[in-house]
Amino acid sequence: MTFNPFSIVALPYAQDALAPVISAQTVAFHYGKHLQTYINNLNAALPGSGFEGKSLEDIVKEAEGGIFNNAGQVLNHTLYFTQFKPAGSPSAPSGALADAITRDFGSFEAFKEEFQKKGAGLFGSGWVWLSADAQGKLVITQETNAGNPVRRGLKPLLTFDVWEHAYYLDYQNRRPDHLAALWEIIDWDVVASRY
Ligand code: MN
Repeated sequence: MTFNPFSIVALPYAQDALAPVISAQTVAFHYGKHLQTYINNLNAALPGSGFEGKSLEDIVKEAEGGIFNNAGQVLNHTLYFTQFKPAGSPSAPSGALADAITRDFGSFEAFKEEFQKKGAGLFGSGWVWLSADAQGKLVITQETNAGNPVRRGLKPLLTFDVWEHAYYLDYQNRRPDHLAALWEIIDWDVVASRY
């Protein structure tokens, strides 16, 4: 019997709906190939590991080595791909999340500038995250490779993937341009629901 506890999250939009911010080709490779491979590798590594039957988040918090790397990438990409909406109708945070952004960063514009700066300045492969601490205070963190803020006791809300596979087909070396464009497709209702 094959042990396949984790499966790929459904995209809440068509594969070409994020273009031109993220092309259909990038979604096809990033979601269909990279994320699927992390899931396959995680499922293959679980039997006999002691992590069978644990939640994905618990595995990310507790595992090390190859199991952590693949579980982290499954959780990171699941949060990443479900935070977008079709291009063409950019929105902004509202409600309690908007209030917290203003309180903790000064303004939505100041928050976006800081988030992009931390994404552009992350050396090598990794992720930039907006998270909430136990008191609801918002923080921006950089995580290398498969890192996820749940390892620091934070609740992840929003993330930009700065691995080259996330943008190279569309933007080549221009990571800052890719990050600046991503705001156009963020579904702030999803981000707020995580807060
Ligand atoms: Mn990725």
